[in-house]
Amino acid sequence: MRKKLLLGNWKMNKTREEAKVFALGSLALSELAKMHHLEVGVCPSYLSLSTIQKYNPDLIVASQNVHHLNSGAFTGEISIPMLAELDITWSLVGHSERRTLYYETSESCNLKILALLNHQMTPVYCVGETLEQFESHLTKKVIKEQIEVGLAGVLKDQAQQLIIAYEPVWSIGTGKNASVSIAQDICSYIRFLLKEMYGEEIAENIRILYGGSVKPDNVRAYLSTPDIDGALVGGASLKIESFKELVQNII
Ligand code: PEP
Repeated sequence: MRKKLLLGNWKMNKTREEAKVFALGSLALSELAKMHHLEVGVCPSYLSLSTIQKYNPDLIVASQNVHHLNSGAFTGEISIPMLAELDITWSLVGHSERRTLYYETSESCNLKILALLNHQMTPVYCVGETLEQFESHLTKKVIKEQIEVGLAGVLKDQAQQLIIAYEPVWSIGTGKNASVSIAQDICSYIRFLLKEMYGEEIAENIRILYGGSVKPDNVRAYLSTPDIDGALVGGASLKIESFKELVQNII
């Protein structure tokens, strides 16, 4: 049975002090989530990773990005061993802002995913189509490329460690969330692709999240569908009050 997951993506928001206040404010919430078998976590800036761990050890703490090489002349980058040293074992890969603003591709995401898996870490691989692709009915073609190229070379026994986040680019930060039926349809298609790659049993164990303008008032509908196992949430994860409401409305 796949455990439900709520993951907040803070992007370039929150100082360490603000992260500390959030972590302390989420302690009771984590207890509640645990009682209801809901996993809850956040992706803060690199600088706040340890702050969250320190003030709420029950939150999953994920990096927003990582380099695929262990070290080298890559100014401004962070490596997997650097995260591992902090006991950070999760990282987002290929968030649409990274693909759009920093030209990440499914090929570069693939290198990161393989490197994370080789370090026994959990990649949260983000996929999704642009508005133009959506309007041209290219969603499934785009998703197929992102899944097949992004996951190339991932071995069957590593695949269970993956988490996929379907985030239509046109719905991120826009308030235009994909309808529940579109989100379920694409998440079910992703599971179908995973079945073709890894077989039924493994694909049934891989968690697939929906992300894109998820709010407290719509989160439950997404998580009530057969193939959506959680949510990756940007804006609504920033304020502790709305984060609490997200948790309460899921459980
Ligand atoms: C995100 O950043 O991954 C995201 C889904 O943002 P928002 O919830 O604000 O649309």
